Amino acid sequence: MRTNRQLFLQHIAQTSAAPLALEVVRAEGMYLWDVSGKQYLDLIAGISVSNIGHSHPEVVRAVQQQAEKYMHLMVYGEFVESPQVAYARLLAEHLPASLQGVYFTNSGAEAIEGAMKTAKRYTGRTEIIAFDNDYHGSTQGALSIIGDEYFRNAYRPLLPGIRHLRFGDFDELSAITRDTAAVIAETVQGEAGIIRPEHRWFQQLRARCRETGALLILDEVQAGLGRTGTLWAFQAPGVVPDILVLGKALGGGMPLGAFIADQSILRVLTHHPVLGHITTFGGHPVSCAAGLAAFRVLSEQGWTDMVRQKEQWFREELIHPKIRAVRSAGLMMAVDLGSFEYNKKVIDRCLEKGLLTDWFLFAPTCLRIAPPLIISEAQIRQAGAFIREALEEVS
Ligand code: PMP
Repeated sequence: MRTNRQLFLQHIAQTSAAPLALEVVRAEGMYLWDVSGKQYLDLIAGISVSNIGHSHPEVVRAVQQQAEKYMHLMVYGEFVESPQVAYARLLAEHLPASLQGVYFTNSGAEAIEGAMKTAKRYTGRTEIIAFDNDYHGSTQGALSIIGDEYFRNAYRPLLPGIRHLRFGDFDELSAITRDTAAVIAETVQGEAGIIRPEHRWFQQLRARCRETGALLILDEVQAGLGRTGTLWAFQAPGVVPDILVLGKALGGGMPLGAFIADQSILRVLTHHPVLGHITTFGGHPVSCAAGLAAFRVLSEQGWTDMVRQKEQWFREELIHPKIRAVRSAGLMMAVDLGSFEYNKKVIDRCLEKGLLTDWFLFAPTCLRIAPPLIISEAQIRQAGAFIREALEEVS
C-alpha cells in the first residue's frame, strides 16, 4: 500500500522539487506532532498565521458552533451574516476612524487585488507604485506588483502601469504623481528578510500620497495583528493608510483576508459596474467566527504586549559567530547566515532536533523566526539553544 507521503507526491500539485513533506497529525499551542509521534516546536506559525497558537480551544469552539448553525449560504455581501458583521465591527473598534469598512476575502492576495481595483476606481487613475522586494501574493495582479524580478518574470505579460521604487528611499518619493492611483507597501517587508524603513520615510510617503491624491495601501498580511508588538504595524511610524490589507492571522487559522477602508472609498465597488469585486467564499461565516474568536483572545489576553520582550529574549539567544545579522520587528525576525546552502542545512538540522523554521522567499540566506505570539520564555531559550547547536553541527 502506498504511504500518504507517496500519495501526496503523486496527487498533490507541487510547487517545489523538494517539498518538506512533513506529515503532521496534530497541532496544539506551540507544537506540531508528526506521524511518528515526533514533536516540533513551531517557530514559523504557518508563516505568521497561528498568532495565538494552533487549534486554540476558543477558536475550535467558535468553528464548531458556527458550523452547526450554518456554513456557506450565499456569495459575499448579499446576506447579513452575523459572524462577518461582528468581526467587522470588532476590527473597526480597534482601527482609526477612517478604516471602518471591511471587505472580507478568501486570502491575502485576493485582498490585494480588491485594494488595487478599488484604488483605480476611486481615483480614476491607473498607475500603481510598489516597492522592490515587497511581497503581495501570487495572483497575477499581486504578482505584477511584487518586487522581485525572478518571481515576476516568467509570468509576463503582467499588469501594465506598475512602477517599482526603492523601499525607504526618500528621493524616489517624487515619482508619486497625480497619475498615481495607489502606492502599495508592506509596512514591514517580510519576504525581503524583515526590512523596516525609517519612520520618517513612511511619514513622507503618507504626505506625498495626500499631496498627489494617490491612495496609500499598506499590506499588513504578515505584519498585522500583533506580530510587530503593536496591533497594527502602521502604529510604529504613526501613519494611517487609506486602505489596509490583512490576511494570514486574520482568520485564526481559517482562510480569511480583508481590505479595509472608509466606506466612501469602498462604495466605488457598488456601481459602474455593480458587484465591482465579487467572491463566493470571501468572508466565509466559519472563517469569520474563527477570526473573531482569535482576535478576542489576542486582544483580551494581552499577547501583543509581550511581543517586544520576547523579541529581546530571542535576540539574547541569537548571538553566535556564524550569525551575520539579526533583523526584527517584534516576533518577525530574520537571522542572516550568509549563504542559502548553509542556511538550508541549519534549517534541516533544526528540524531533526524538533524545531520548525524556514527561509525567506527574497532572502534565502536568512532563517525565519515568526512563532505564535504565545511562545514562552523557556521555549525561546530552547529554540535558541537548538539553533546555536545546529550552527555548530553543520559548520
Ligand atoms: N502580502 C504579504 C505581505 C504576504 O506575506 C502574503 C503571503 N505570504 C500575501 C500578501 C499573500 O497572501 P496569500 O498567500 O494569503 O494570498
